[in-house]
Amino acid sequence: MTASCALKICEHCDSVYTPVVLKRGEVARCVRCACILDRSRRLNLQQHLALTIAAAVMFVFANVFPVITISFQGLNNQAELWQSVSALAQGPISVIAIVAGITIIVAPLLQIVLLCWVLFYALRRRAAPGFKICMRTLEQLRPWSMLEVCLLGVLVTVVKLAGMLDVHPGLGLWALGMLTVLIILISGKDIRRLWDDLEVSPQ
Ligand SMILES: [Zn+2]
Repeated sequence: MTASCALKICEHCDSVYTPVVLKRGEVARCVRCACILDRSRRLNLQQHLALTIAAAVMFVFANVFPVITISFQGLNNQAELWQSVSALAQGPISVIAIVAGITIIVAPLLQIVLLCWVLFYALRRRAAPGFKICMRTLEQLRPWSMLEVCLLGVLVTVVKLAGMLDVHPGLGLWALGMLTVLIILISGKDIRRLWDDLEVSPQ
């Protein structure tokens, strides 16, 4: 492993370390609390941007095509992702619609847009306009993006309703599944490396 210049602080116990460049598959752990300090880079910039664009396409598919189709005695009904938020807004607990809208539509959309923005410029070895705000917003958005919870909820609904009604998963559900995996891949802590790669000070 090769030593580089800036210092790294353990997020859990505040121990300070000299960071090292990790080889593929290597993991750096804190010697005091054994928490993971750093992992080797899984994606290069081109791969990261390619997956972000793929996530943008899947986001459109997940919101345009029906997630599930329900049939009962000749009647058909389809539900898109945004319709679930709309249905919640009309119910007695409409405040939940705001939370659902933020966690399954707004937060993932902002993550994709901001990642495309900073990665597009990073490929040209430049910090995007508003780089610091974008990076800090991405950090704050991470806990708000809950597509995996939504996907689990839809799958449970499909299984539960399948016993009573004719339920078919739609193209939107497959897109939602792929989008969930892609968001996990692209919005992890790997993106923090851009601070070092582009030599931008967080101050
Ligand atoms: Zn530690």
